[in-house]
Amino acid sequence: MGAAAVEERDRMGSQQQVDVVVLGVGSAGEVVAGELARAGRSVLAVESDLVGGECPYYACVPSKSLLLSAAAGLPWEEAVRRRDEHAEHRDDAGAAQGLQEQGVRLLRGRGEVLGRDGDALQVAVGGGDARQVLTCHDLVVATGSDAVLPPVEGLDQVATWTSADALAAQELPARLVVLGGGPVGCELAQAFARLGRPHGATVALVETADRLLATEAAFVGEAVAAALRADGVDVRVGVTAQRARVDDAAGGSVLELDDGSSLVADRVLVATGRRPRTAGLGLERVGVELTDRGAVAVDDRWQAAPGVWAIGDVTGVAPYTHTANAAARAVAASLRGVEPEPSTRVDVPAVPRGVYTDPAVLAVGPSPEQARTQGRELVSAAMDLAGTARGFLTGKGGRVEIWADPVERVVVAAAAVGPDVDAWMHELVLAVHARVPLEVLAGTVHAFPTWSEALEPPLRELLAACR
Ligand SMILES: Cc1cc2nc3c(=O)[nH]c(=O)nc-3n(C[C@H](O)[C@H](O)[C@H](O)COP(=O)(O)OP(=O)(O)OC[C@H]3O[C@@H](n4cnc5c(N)ncnc54)[C@H](O)[C@@H]3O)c2cc1C
Repeated sequence: MGAAAVEERDRMGSQQQVDVVVLGVGSAGEVVAGELARAGRSVLAVESDLVGGECPYYACVPSKSLLLSAAAGLPWEEAVRRRDEHAEHRDDAGAAQGLQEQGVRLLRGRGEVLGRDGDALQVAVGGGDARQVLTCHDLVVATGSDAVLPPVEGLDQVATWTSADALAAQELPARLVVLGGGPVGCELAQAFARLGRPHGATVALVETADRLLATEAAFVGEAVAAALRADGVDVRVGVTAQRARVDDAAGGSVLELDDGSSLVADRVLVATGRRPRTAGLGLERVGVELTDRGAVAVDDRWQAAPGVWAIGDVTGVAPYTHTANAAARAVAASLRGVEPEPSTRVDVPAVPRGVYTDPAVLAVGPSPEQARTQGRELVSAAMDLAGTARGFLTGKGGRVEIWADPVERVVVAAAAVGPDVDAWMHELVLAVHARVPLEVLAGTVHAFPTWSEALEPPLRELLAACR
């Protein structure tokens, strides 16, 4: 416990009443606590680990740092040095101070909801002599998510990493096997493959679905698989790890796959998904319901029960830092009592999904499979990025595909894989969010020779198809 937190506890005594308690100070909690404190509310933020949560220390920031270093051809040692610098050496002193400077009172410890007392909600923090009981009018649950270990027999007996372990590791495994071909698995497989190649290190990736990034349009995962294979990754799709065991002869672990093959690993990096962190929080005591996936069920204002709000990964809704931040601003607006306005509402179907491999991926709106499940009849048009002037000049390629609703005559979804798509595809994120008419989109002139020019032919094709 830091000195500031000890001071806070001593000053508060064992009972304290505030307007708002924020449980968990990651991407979501940090923003909502700061916004409300700056608006004059008394806010107590409870954090059991690092102020800032996963993103700056164990997730987005260190993973992007490694990927950028790998793309720049930096050696492993330099990449690790930069990663740790970008991740503030996993020291949250600056973040804690920043929060307190905004007027948020920070309490270190694990929080648990006790129940209601009339209109008030009660939260306990810590145990024994240090136990605090907080009473508040509103509670914001922002406790994030945990990595899930898949049910592979013997996996708990071999040397595994979660993504957080991998992103804090100083050593480079000679043989790394990544389980899971979602965004985290793909990003880390590429980073470790590129950084490990000069050391003779190998990376294999195992994915149960028949392609990588299986929730996106098929071309996206196929392009990323090709890129990973070009980086030397042994990509295996449509197979599942069944058993793991230590094998002295192999000098590591052996993973047996259900196609009869096996892989030898010095480390198994488990990237098979995350589970909302709701266990043991006492949420049922205040009437919070969980979805069948264990997430806090919220309405479109992120409210879970009277006086209880939930934001970030714990809701299971579009689990990205940008959603967490946007939901935090929305809840802060609700609690400040400002008139709800469109800018404070999170348009979940228009939240972009990025994967920061090389080539990168950016997608928005339902995938073709999701659209089919929703019974939506969409028309689509695509463009090969190699066909643009920028593609000709750089020798690079990729693909963008856009889906429109022929009745509404608006773009409802788009996906792209290729150079810098995370930068130039936001035009279509805006189009989906604002329901910009196809006429307007198709009539937009893009500068020559940018990647954005790739949007023009498919948009004109969609306009013609939707007349
Ligand atoms: C490897 C990886 C890479 C990623 N890259 C990206 C990316 O590039 N872009 C992107 O948008 N998203 C990315 N994400 C997702 C992103 O990290 C999460 O969506 C985001 O961090 C969620 O923020 P949060 O506030 O909900 O949770 P967290 O950041 O996890 O914060 C929750 C906090 O609550 C605390 N806590 C939990 N329980 C309690 C309790 N009972 N009492 C007190 N405190 C508690 C925890 O200690 C934690 O600090 C990535 C995720 C991973 C795993």
